Amino acid sequence: MRQNNIFTAQSRDREFYIRVMIAVAACGISFGLPFALYHLFWGSLTISAILLPVVVLQVFALISLLRRGFNAFAAWTIGVVQISANIFFVMEVGMMASYWLYASGVANFYILDRRPALLVNTLACLLAVTLAFDDPTYIVRYCAAFAMINIFLYTFSAQLEKKNDELDRMLTIDPLTRVGNRTAMDETLLRVKNHFDRYATPATVIMIDLDHFKVINDTLGHFEGDKVLCRVADLVQTRLRPTDSLYRYGGEEFIVVAENTTLSQASYLAEGIRQRVADYEGEHKNAESTLTVSIGVAQLRAEESTNNMINRADQALYKAKSMGRNWVCFDGEFESENGELDATRTEDTERATG
Ligand code: GH3
Ligand code: MG
Ligand code: MG
Repeated sequence: MRQNNIFTAQSRDREFYIRVMIAVAACGISFGLPFALYHLFWGSLTISAILLPVVVLQVFALISLLRRGFNAFAAWTIGVVQISANIFFVMEVGMMASYWLYASGVANFYILDRRPALLVNTLACLLAVTLAFDDPTYIVRYCAAFAMINIFLYTFSAQLEKKNDELDRMLTIDPLTRVGNRTAMDETLLRVKNHFDRYATPATVIMIDLDHFKVINDTLGHFEGDKVLCRVADLVQTRLRPTDSLYRYGGEEFIVVAENTTLSQASYLAEGIRQRVADYEGEHKNAESTLTVSIGVAQLRAEESTNNMINRADQALYKAKSMGRNWVCFDGEFESENGELDATRTEDTERATG
């Protein structure tokens, strides 16, 4: 469940978010319990009859947070129960207790998503002023201040979410080529592996390495070399299907994770990528340098780690290099169009081999 409350910042760090909720619940319990006990023995039985269940519910929410981590039951229990108890307070004690609503309202932005928080707080404010306040001037002032705090927190939370999304993107994008980086690839591979283990969904990796890239760097300079890397990333990207994703694996190496794709299906994709790069007529193509890629492909096997699959793709890539470059090679055999078992594939017999 995606959280967009004030701690969206921690979407990658649930631990911190849960700790905040635990702190809020613990505050609710440690403030609520003495009041409940005081009223039970010396004050109003009605107040203690309301407060004690509130404390007990918060204890349950706290235990549930500690045992199960983040869960909706805990969030809603802590958020709604606290503010409801405060409305009751306002009704019992009067205006003086209304200040507690501010504290609960702020806490709700830490506990619930920001839209439910705004809704719950607005309802709580309206209920409190309707049920407990008589003076219209005070009602207006109170509502205005409450609205201002809520609007501020809502806007702050939205801004924070935007910034955090940007940070998230920066963490997962290769700054030069703008394709995914290793972190993003690892996340995708983890998901792919879980899908494979659970539903046996096939998955394939296509490892792409620029041929004789050092020559391009040496003849055109490092800066132009960078531009070539970006161009290749663009060329590959435009050949992919929506379920494929591209990552920069190393200096001049890229990996495509082709989800729900067998080795045989990936062969067309890999060949298409090889051809698209070889056909590209860029300004850097001259007598000294050509632009081609060698490709190794491997499909995820049962009981295998994704690292092992990548190693097998790397071995296939090594084979493609040793065959003279500008080749697509596979780790494993598959049935090609003419029904033969094939471990290499290329259709452009006229291609440059570097
Ligand atoms: P091969 O066909 O065997 O792959 O030869 P190659 O020259 O492509 O491979 P090699 O490993 O010898 O050289 C890779 C080069 O890629 C060397 C390195 O300077 C260059 N490189 C790595 N990262 C970058 C980068 O970010 N920008 C540029 N311009 N060059 C890079
Ligand atoms: Mg290379
Ligand atoms: Mg390389």
